[in-house]
Amino acid sequence: MGSVILSGVRKSYGDVEVIKGIDLTVADRELCVFVGPSGCGKSTLLRMIAGLEDIDAGSVLIDGVDVTEAAPAKRGLAMVFQNYALYPHMNAYDNMAYGLRRAGLAKEDVDRRVRAAARKLQIEALLDRRPKQMSGGQRQRVAIGRAIVREPKVFLFDEPLSNLDAALRIETRAQIAGLHQDLKATMIYVTHDQIEAMTLADKIVVLRSGIVEQAGAPLELYEHPDNVFVATFIGTPAMNLIPVELTAASPEVLSVRMADGGLLDVAGNWRKAEPGAKAQLGIRPERVSWGEADGSAPLGRVRLVERFGGETLCYMDMPDGSTVTAKAAGIAALAPGETVSLQFDLTGANLFDADGRSLRVRRTR
Ligand code: ADP
Ligand code: MG
Repeated sequence: MGSVILSGVRKSYGDVEVIKGIDLTVADRELCVFVGPSGCGKSTLLRMIAGLEDIDAGSVLIDGVDVTEAAPAKRGLAMVFQNYALYPHMNAYDNMAYGLRRAGLAKEDVDRRVRAAARKLQIEALLDRRPKQMSGGQRQRVAIGRAIVREPKVFLFDEPLSNLDAALRIETRAQIAGLHQDLKATMIYVTHDQIEAMTLADKIVVLRSGIVEQAGAPLELYEHPDNVFVATFIGTPAMNLIPVELTAASPEVLSVRMADGGLLDVAGNWRKAEPGAKAQLGIRPERVSWGEADGSAPLGRVRLVERFGGETLCYMDMPDGSTVTAKAAGIAALAPGETVSLQFDLTGANLFDADGRSLRVRRTR
């Protein structure tokens, strides 16, 4: 099928540069998710791959072929948009068949492909309906069907679930994951929703202001973010960032002092750091637990407790004014205003320097 390789791609609108030199490889059959806040350039980058936007610098290779100057139709791609973009006057069948007919495919082949896609997407009963006669979820499935029938090398999705309600989003997300397994195709999927990124992706690319902040497997980004932007963007509730000062530094252990004077040793594989430097200790909420206040551990004052049934989130104010979030399984008996002691499980804990960059030695990719 198709790999996608971007080398030094750039794009400006007027004198505003929105894509600032991106290098990226999407492997054959990979499901790669571009995620980042609104306006960071996700759609622009996807449209550059599709050939819908000109590229100011750099190159795009699809399946080993340089398509930087190639017309969209010559790139072997199919794109699915947030707003479905179906022809309103055509029924679902014709919407899916249209591109194939235009490409001159024989009637029987068109019919075979449309019916196979409809079966996969469970929309066989809807083939006679026009978009107006379908729900949002059904329309989006027709739009996905229209992409499938083209048998592209690469599928491009731009926020395909954003117009669907919560339950349908989860259902359609699972369907896209199933399609990826089934079709064994390369897919590039754009979303602002980090949960979609975490659940769907083989590889996540976190974008901010037109640059790649980090690219890697979902759990790699979750466990070892390269910087505080990725640390707080991936995972809800966000990773705790606790202000600390380095007191001793070795390649295997960094010792830190918290605001209340407490000392912690954090094991890891650390780059060179200077004692005395300010840093931030990054700990996921599920690695923070609480107990009765006994004076030997940092104390927090409970501000808010959220009970989800299966888990409880507790937001605590620390003496230095920062907030720490803890997540525990089950239903916790805890009330706002209580003072509790906090325990940090430092296994895999992260440390970030004053510029917000991870102190961990970067693994080569
Ligand atoms: P995202 O999809 O991540 O929300 P976009 O790729 O749509 O972001 O936009 C990235 C930036 O480029 C935004 O600041 C947006 O305002 C700007 N932009 C997008 N399209 C155009 C355009 N046609 N002309 C000028 N600016 C644009
Ligand atoms: Mg967009």
